[in-house]
Amino acid sequence: MLIIIGTKEKTVKTGDFEESCPFCSGKLYIYERKLFFSLFFIPLFPVKHIESFIFCPDCNYKKQLK
Ligand SMILES: [Zn+2]
Repeated sequence: MLIIIGTKEKTVKTGDFEESCPFCSGKLYIYERKLFFSLFFIPLFPVKHIESFIFCPDCNYKKQLK
C-alpha cells in the first residue's frame, strides 16, 4: 500500500483585529500561515508556524505581525 505523506501550507483566520484598515476603514482580520503535516494531501496538524498577519478582505491590505 502506498502512503503519501508530506507537508502543506495552510492559512487560517484566527480572529478579528481591534483596529480598522488604514486604507478603506474596513474590518481587519488576523491570519496565521502554518505548515501542516499531511497524509494523502490532507493537512492533519501544524508542524511549523510561518507567519502571522492582518488582512483586509476589502482592499487586500496585508501587514505582517511581529
Ligand atoms: Zn482595506
